[in-house]
Amino acid sequence: MVTGVGAVRHRSPGSWSSEPRSRSSEPSSGTGKRSPDAQGAPNQPTLRRLRQFDVRPDRELGQNFLIDSNILGVIGRLAALSDTDVVLEIGGGVGVLSEYLAARAAHVHVVEIDERLRDPLNDAVVGFANVTLHWCDALTVDLAALRPAPTKVVANLPYGVAAAALLRTIEELPTATRWVAMVQREVGQRLAAGWAGSNPRAYGVPSVLAQLACRVHVARAIPRTVFYPVPNVDSVLVELTRTGPAARPAVRALVAGAFAHRRKALARSLALAGVAEREQVRTALASMGLPLDVRAERLAPQEFVALAEALGL
Ligand code: SAM
Repeated sequence: MVTGVGAVRHRSPGSWSSEPRSRSSEPSSGTGKRSPDAQGAPNQPTLRRLRQFDVRPDRELGQNFLIDSNILGVIGRLAALSDTDVVLEIGGGVGVLSEYLAARAAHVHVVEIDERLRDPLNDAVVGFANVTLHWCDALTVDLAALRPAPTKVVANLPYGVAAAALLRTIEELPTATRWVAMVQREVGQRLAAGWAGSNPRAYGVPSVLAQLACRVHVARAIPRTVFYPVPNVDSVLVELTRTGPAARPAVRALVAGAFAHRRKALARSLALAGVAEREQVRTALASMGLPLDVRAERLAPQEFVALAEALGL
């Protein structure tokens, strides 16, 4: 389901500038202050909206909302936002990042699953005509149908679906060239892990699929205190820059099968996963000059593509 936000004030495309647009009486992003105003309401937009709209954060949905405006600046700089960007934000929450993005990009698509957040999220973006709210699941929304098509993905991702949501956008948004996402530290490490590297257990399906299409980099660690409520895991900002098209479906299936039984030899894992016969894989590995008993974690991302070709997949 796609719902456009009613435009309160229209801004013509020609008037967009790279300078953030602030709105009349309230800040367009968090102030970071927690002290209440004269009426006792918190100044910080996230905290104010949570109180004003009586929202209790749902941990099951990964609702750890940003309450520090400095982090918005960090995210914005990493994303190198320009007034021609079309941004996809996954998980709008109560809109603190949405309004920051809306003031700097040509268009922002915000996907949010929790309908309890309709009022606060509308409150955050009501002054922007360049925002479309999509009340649906980021794992099933038809990304290819988004218009205008996103060029960047910028999000404080819900922990439970972060890797899956990111990989979906790499596969289904060929127009997207850059991602900046807040994720659990371990997810960031998995996305960025190198093969045969110092942390071989981190290298797996997300690493291969992300790195086949993007350069992946863990930009920085983020303190837990910038979220409300404070999460019980550590977070990092991860940045991805597209270097090529996403892996085709046959390669994705091969990679999934290769790591399905990661403690076994690759040929055995692929046979157990029903991707290819064990001997067929061993022959293909030999043709690539790789040991017949090699494990998936020893193959570079591009070697999975070569293996798929050698197997005729
Ligand atoms: N962007 C806001 C911020 O930074 O304060 C909220 C970030 S919060 C970590 C993650 C948001 O993702 C929550 O609002 C949650 O309801 C939403 N969410 C969780 N699962 C989702 C899904 N499958 N699809 C879309 N949104 C989801």
